[in-house]
Amino acid sequence: MKLNAPRCQAGRCVIPEGGRGRCQARINVRGQLLSLVYGRPITEHVDPIEKKPFFHFLPGSQAYSFATSGCALRCRFCQNWQISQARPEDYRVQFTPPGALVTRARERKAPVVAFTYNEPTVFTEYLCDTARAARKAGLRCVLVSCGFMNEAPLSEMIEVLDAIKIDLKGFSPDFYKNVSSARLEPVLRSIKQVAKSGRHLEIVNLVVPTLNDSEKMLDGLVKWVVSEAGPDVPLHFTRFHPDFQLLNLPPTPVETLEHARSVAMSAGLKYVYVGNVPGDPGNNTYCPSCKAVCIQREGFFVTAVRMKAGKCAACGCPIAGVWK
Ligand code: SF4
Repeated sequence: MKLNAPRCQAGRCVIPEGGRGRCQARINVRGQLLSLVYGRPITEHVDPIEKKPFFHFLPGSQAYSFATSGCALRCRFCQNWQISQARPEDYRVQFTPPGALVTRARERKAPVVAFTYNEPTVFTEYLCDTARAARKAGLRCVLVSCGFMNEAPLSEMIEVLDAIKIDLKGFSPDFYKNVSSARLEPVLRSIKQVAKSGRHLEIVNLVVPTLNDSEKMLDGLVKWVVSEAGPDVPLHFTRFHPDFQLLNLPPTPVETLEHARSVAMSAGLKYVYVGNVPGDPGNNTYCPSCKAVCIQREGFFVTAVRMKAGKCAACGCPIAGVWK
């Protein structure tokens, strides 16, 4: 009998009978792709939602965050490589059904459940079941993703999620190929798909010195975001710190991030942030009309909110986002 060789959710692996995808999280059993990580979270924390980062979604909320092992990518700067590059059998964990995660989130008084740390596309089945259970319990759900996936699994996840953050790691196919072992085009497609769906979207660009910080890449990235995702989508330029296979590079200079923010705002984006630099003025949300500080932050922590019903308290200009 000829068995199928199904393609994975990220669309990168055609997996032979008995084999696994590059993410190690799925196995082909007689033509069917089965998950090896369903119900197997290997790390759980309660984080401020700003740490994901979401700056325009329920600011100041706590997010019950968890991950399994596995990722289809291999970013040379990955800060979570101990779990993203691991195999399911590297961790001994108890089976945890979706309902148990929701109970834990409620016990810890977190109004949000976050699928994060590794690449949640490797556990879409577990994600969707957990999100449905969380919704029934009155919780919101957010995804933190690299965006490297097929349209069908993303559609399924959009249905059950309230907000999605996608990394746009660099605006160059070569950068994706050489630094993340991936492709740019599927990520752009995912961002457009989420933007079109109307789900809350934020975009992050980790700026890595000498690898994706050229004026050409910055200019291409911000122009693409304005035209394809829209000027209201928050864009975060975050600071790289040496990790995994890029221990030889220095942290991103703060001036580089502030310059990127200024270029993006000149291109028409309304909400642009400097990330991983606590105390930088680029941590705050400013009213696009009167420039008043609407949300003041110190790193991941909200220190003041000057908004009323989703509008700037000073001038009444609507601020894009989900505020309640
Ligand atoms: S996509 Fe994210 S989790 Fe996966 S290797 Fe890259 S940085 Fe790590």
